Amino acid sequence: MKYWQPEIETMPRKELEALQLERLKFMLITAQNSPFYKKLFAEKGVEPNKVKSLEDLRLLPFTSKDDLRENYPFGMVAIPLRECVRLHSSSGTTGNPTVVLHSRKDLDEWANQVARCMYMVGIRDYDVFQNTSGYGMFTGGLGFQYGAEKLGCLTVPAAAGNSKRQIKFITDFGTTCLHIIPSYATRLAEVMYAENIDPRKDTKLHTLCIGAEPHSEEQRQRIEQLLGVRAFNCFGMSEMNGPGVAFECTEQNGLHIWEDYTIVEIINPETLEPVADGEVGELVLTTINRQAMPLIRYHTRDLTSIIPGKCPCGRTHKRISRFKGRSDDMLILKGVNIFPIQIERVLMMFQELGSNYLITVENIDNNDEMLIEVELNDLFTDDYAVLQNLTKNIVRQLKDELLITPKLKLVSKGSLPIHEGKAVRVKDLRIF
Ligand code: ADP
Ligand code: ZN
Repeated sequence: MKYWQPEIETMPRKELEALQLERLKFMLITAQNSPFYKKLFAEKGVEPNKVKSLEDLRLLPFTSKDDLRENYPFGMVAIPLRECVRLHSSSGTTGNPTVVLHSRKDLDEWANQVARCMYMVGIRDYDVFQNTSGYGMFTGGLGFQYGAEKLGCLTVPAAAGNSKRQIKFITDFGTTCLHIIPSYATRLAEVMYAENIDPRKDTKLHTLCIGAEPHSEEQRQRIEQLLGVRAFNCFGMSEMNGPGVAFECTEQNGLHIWEDYTIVEIINPETLEPVADGEVGELVLTTINRQAMPLIRYHTRDLTSIIPGKCPCGRTHKRISRFKGRSDDMLILKGVNIFPIQIERVLMMFQELGSNYLITVENIDNNDEMLIEVELNDLFTDDYAVLQNLTKNIVRQLKDELLITPKLKLVSKGSLPIHEGKAVRVKDLRIF
């Protein structure tokens, strides 16, 4: 089946914006059916019929993750529950989880978004698509499942973990495409090499959809080399359905965000005012094509920017840049702001290093100290002098990037904890 939708994907900006406005107006009217927005609109004096242009979006209030938590489980739902057919929730490690409900049409639209993304990166109905996401409440499982089925792929719902089983499926079923989180992709490659399987020769893998956690360009390149594939960045979050919100095209230069589904704003997290294209700020999203749970100006906490200019692929939907991280991931050490991804970028430049690392921050005698432990590539030497020299080199590069000098410990392969879900890269032991 063909999921190239040129009438939408290459729609002239003017038409696309007209479509957005029409959908925004409709969404605002229906949003009032949710107890949360009904109350909020009354409190803030919002009158949906006063929204006459896309700029008027700025007159509307923001929605936060706390709003979702406080209105758990059904306070944000804008249609009768009997018309809802599925519910997903986030992990919710603290307090109430966030819950998102979907109507039948919502699920169909979501699958369409995912199928469109997959087609964009060259995945076709003759491909065998293996999904290594957790199923159940986690949106990466069913989200990709329905998208891949809609596209017509032979879909393998392998779910998360159990690397040996994943590899057996890849080789037995001739898997050509994977959906996988980046930290697990490098791990899976390592297990393949340890089992004497060369993924470049012994598998049919050619395309990976990687996302769900921040990763650097350097890590993407490493994944591509290790597995002999092209890997495309995919962004999603459960509040916005899940995967399929934004995805890289084959240019691999920014993620197209589907503007027929979502209105994108990038704002300064302090002033809440919009930033210029190209400038980094917080991503704020408004759903304009969702029935069960519309969200208005949702604060994602993710930091990114709009890439100025047209994409050579011909799609007119805006592109957002690779994520810098979440505003809540930022570490402040000795007054310097540091994102874990900056550290990853430096580490990945060294072929001598493996892909697993852990950053520990501690306060020792009133001083913030950072320790970075990183695994060596298993083919690398144990010659002390060579390792010392390497350590010095890496620390120098880290200092240039971070402006502080971390401690660095090279550890042997397999000695750091591994994660089957999103990788935990930072341990902050400071007490605030
Ligand atoms: P949870 O919030 O429970 O971890 P989600 O799956 O909804 O579950 O996580 C969404 C978050 O994951 C995003 O807000 C973003 O921080 C991160 N994320 C998702 N995709 C990417 C990506 N491609 N690059 C960087 N971060 C991503
Ligand atoms: Zn493009």
